[in-house]
Amino acid sequence: MPSSRSAEAPASTRRRVTRADDPCRRLDGVGPKLAERLAALGIECVGDVLLHRPLRYEDRSVVTPVAALVMNRAALAVVRVDAAEIRHGRRRSLLVSCSDGDARLWLRFFHFAPAQQARFAPGVWVRVFGEPRAGVYGVEMVHPEYQIVADAAAGHAIEPELRPIYPTASGVSQKRLFDMTGQALALLDTPGFWPEALPADLVTGFDVRESAAALRRIHRPGPADDTAALVAGSHPAVARLAFEELLGHQLGLRSRRRRVKAENAPPLGDAGRGLAPLFAQLGFEPTAAQRRVIGEMLADMALRHPMLRLIQGDVGSGKTVVAAAAVLTAVENGWQAAFMAPTELLAEQHAASLARWLEPLGVPVWLVTGKRRRDDALVATIDAGTPGVAVGTHALFQEALTFGRLGLCVVDEQHRFGVNQRLALRNKADRGGLTAHQLIMTATPIPRTLAMSAYADLDTSVIDELPPGRTPVVTVAVPNTRRDEVIERIGRAVAAGRQVYWVCTLIETSEKLEAQAAEAAAEALSTSLDGVRVTLAHGRMKAEAKARAMSAFKEGRIDVLVATTVIEVGVDVPNASLMIIENAERLGLAQLHQLRGRVGRGSVDSHCVLLYQPPLSETARRRLSALRETTDGFAIARADLELRGPGEVLGTRQTGAAAFRVADLLRDAALAERALAVADDVLVYHPREAERLIERWAGARDGYARV
Ligand code: ADP
Ligand code: MG
Repeated sequence: MPSSRSAEAPASTRRRVTRADDPCRRLDGVGPKLAERLAALGIECVGDVLLHRPLRYEDRSVVTPVAALVMNRAALAVVRVDAAEIRHGRRRSLLVSCSDGDARLWLRFFHFAPAQQARFAPGVWVRVFGEPRAGVYGVEMVHPEYQIVADAAAGHAIEPELRPIYPTASGVSQKRLFDMTGQALALLDTPGFWPEALPADLVTGFDVRESAAALRRIHRPGPADDTAALVAGSHPAVARLAFEELLGHQLGLRSRRRRVKAENAPPLGDAGRGLAPLFAQLGFEPTAAQRRVIGEMLADMALRHPMLRLIQGDVGSGKTVVAAAAVLTAVENGWQAAFMAPTELLAEQHAASLARWLEPLGVPVWLVTGKRRRDDALVATIDAGTPGVAVGTHALFQEALTFGRLGLCVVDEQHRFGVNQRLALRNKADRGGLTAHQLIMTATPIPRTLAMSAYADLDTSVIDELPPGRTPVVTVAVPNTRRDEVIERIGRAVAAGRQVYWVCTLIETSEKLEAQAAEAAAEALSTSLDGVRVTLAHGRMKAEAKARAMSAFKEGRIDVLVATTVIEVGVDVPNASLMIIENAERLGLAQLHQLRGRVGRGSVDSHCVLLYQPPLSETARRRLSALRETTDGFAIARADLELRGPGEVLGTRQTGAAAFRVADLLRDAALAERALAVADDVLVYHPREAERLIERWAGARDGYARV
């Protein structure tokens, strides 16, 4: 049991580590192998070691009598060995029988050396720490940590100590992490290693003032520290760091925004005709919300600096029209637009809508997916800077496609792309010294604080109104055991001239298995529903076959479309009024809401049946009832946030923006508000601290600092 705290780092460490961003390989005992394993935990530099927060703390200051041990709860005991022998059961093990005078405790080791058996001589006292469990003979600890002590009194004489237990990975022991954090903490005294980053007037608001002090409390709490609060994140030491992190991210985003806003962009104003010709093409009146958002967007585009605008609008709120207005404006000014969709299917659909609305107005619409990406004539046209709009997936920006005169980038369904892709897109546009305007559209409405924290580099417009005549979708949850009733219901809907989606989902995101499930479901439906036209669309089909299926459904030549989640975003068939989602319990709220948004697009009453496999877990039950209760995307986003936490909602790994190390936007909402409130002041009046904060919390790794 390591009992010493490494208060002082060995001299060698001090010499080699001078900055928090020095690689952790410079710490003593960290070789290349370990460094690799640490990287899997997100630990690359010494600063990362400090920000690796313990999961929990074990109190090793209290000796528990064996009789009072609680199963599965790690505890410390002091016992005397009676016998140690090797057992040849299913697995060979060393079994040590001990007692503290009142009750018996068994220690079991599967991996042991002969010397170990000898050390457990009868009469020897041991201090053991481990998780008691019910063994063959009674209370047993498997592979406890232990230490042989002189006698019972020595066993009880322990300095109070709260042992931090860290998140770990294979090949990285607690002991190693304890040692590394010890070395890193000792470095906090080295000048310049961890300079205070909060301006003095902000520090006074915190119970733990210096961030170095906060780190010490988190890694090596004292006996008076509330460890439950440290774990939950409500401890002042955690709050102090969380605030610093929230502020750092906020500053990173805002300074990135400042840099981009300072660049030059082609001013794309009204080229004379206004938007009346576009509106005339639509066949419907834009809603007031659409008009307002279009106005906000066009005001940005008319400036000599790049637009950075996020448009939030619930599923079906009509974001495509807004994008079309931007595209038309860019092209009428003689510039090109790039329109990026998350899937090929959606790119095709957007291209079709844009072609319908814009080609009559003289705007070329190029679909750049599949084989067309290698169409030399098309590639040359785009390279030559011919005004028009290219629609595709992120491949638009990865392939060797060059835009001769890119003035506008539209990104649909932002949450599916990451900050990095957003940056790549910007770089693509950065030609001839002019930056393209950026329009980002998302159907995932996010509560304000979260949006501000994640998208502080963007201006936001909200389409807060659905086109008229939409009827809210009535949602029910039905157990799989009543599948037959659901199938009958499909029969009735089809007989009434309606169309139906049947969505197959699987736990594993294996396209192959999902495709098989869809095929089986389509087969079963055609057999049990006489005369009903059923077809399939899934990710394993050739793009053309998929497109054929979708357009047959769209034109009403098919009654039931059995699909995998490929239809999740954007597909638009107003006559489809019934949707069945299989295994609904396995999907997240946002995804279910997106899927459900495919129905209720016309004026007929629409229904969504969430077919689930009982029994439901508590979270799944809450998810399904949230969907039954509301169709308001914002309410659903809030519920989602509570159920899953912000990282998941924003897609941590994808966006990078929500990858907080200490902060938690839900728990620390109040701190986030405070960070938002002071961010601009810090940027203006404390530039040196701002730079430190950005470097520490939103460093180059996240793509904020240097882009
Ligand atoms: P979103 O991308 O926001 O989910 P879409 O742009 O796909 O929504 O629009 C959904 C459907 O509503 C499309 O069929 C679109 O043509 C139609 N639509 C858009 N705006 C209006 C409007 N103002 N009035 C009627 N229908 C509209
Ligand atoms: Mg859309």
